[in-house]
Amino acid sequence: MSVSSILNADLHCHSVVSDGTLTPEELALRARTNGVELWALTDHDEVGGQHRAIAAAHANGLKYLTGVEISITFAGHTVHIVGLGVDPDEQGLKQGLRSTRGGRSERAMEMSEQLARVGIKDAYEGALKFVGNPELISRTHFARFLVESGVCKDTSEVFRKYLIEGKPGFVEHRWATLQNSVEWITQAGGVAVIAHPARYKFSANEEFALFSEFKTHGGRGVEVVTGSHTAAEYVTYADMAREFGLAASRGSDFHSPDESHTDLGTLPFLPGQLTPVWDLVADRIQ
Ligand code: AMP
Ligand code: MN
Ligand code: MN
Ligand code: MN
Repeated sequence: MSVSSILNADLHCHSVVSDGTLTPEELALRARTNGVELWALTDHDEVGGQHRAIAAAHANGLKYLTGVEISITFAGHTVHIVGLGVDPDEQGLKQGLRSTRGGRSERAMEMSEQLARVGIKDAYEGALKFVGNPELISRTHFARFLVESGVCKDTSEVFRKYLIEGKPGFVEHRWATLQNSVEWITQAGGVAVIAHPARYKFSANEEFALFSEFKTHGGRGVEVVTGSHTAAEYVTYADMAREFGLAASRGSDFHSPDESHTDLGTLPFLPGQLTPVWDLVADRIQ
């Protein structure tokens, strides 16, 4: 095992700049309290929180990697690609993220219309009350509104009943391409990482295509230990990382103290014989 795999790195979480409920400052404090040594904030499709996160990390004595989690469409499904060590001021990345965020308001209004048809009124206005960044309205904000208004008992029930494919509030959306996301990240000096691969409902062939095409475009890593994986899936994706020559990442995907079952910094360490993704971006750690 590489010595550096034994590191409490948490390289995936969300703030109010996307669909988390804590500020970058609150997250940095929580990361320190939980013993995180290397932290990255990876808001969806947005780098607007990065300068606050860098300052907050340093105020708490944490090492920091910049981050982002980009939504893409691959083989008809939504996939997430994390970028680590990017320059948050790089114009190509900023412009790309702005373009992919662009369709969110319209999508949200359509979601609201569809929910109205099943008797849930004014969901757009309701979701907006939970939004921290007007350019980043997400399904999570709708879920919080439906919990607040008593339609469901928690956000997972909302997703199950209303917000996933085939349910009344789901609106098909075309995000960026795999190639777009990997290029934006790479050109901004970062490394691209496939987020929580076990979450996607891919066939073995589709998954193979995702990993191969990701490599072809210059992708370098995959999340192995994440809040979205079971212990068995850590093993599966450690094998996939070795098979495809990808580095391994570790991150809780923490969103909120009330909603997330995995807190910052509480996951097991990376399994052995893997290259930790932080070794690839050692010069980007600040
Ligand atoms: P969006 O980018 O608007 O499609 O929203 C995606 C976000 O919804 C994800 O990043 C998660 O935070 C959240 N999410 C997706 N599926 C679920 C689920 N089954 N239960 C709870 N949250 C979910
Ligand atoms: Mn999210
Ligand atoms: Mn994700
Ligand atoms: Mn995430």
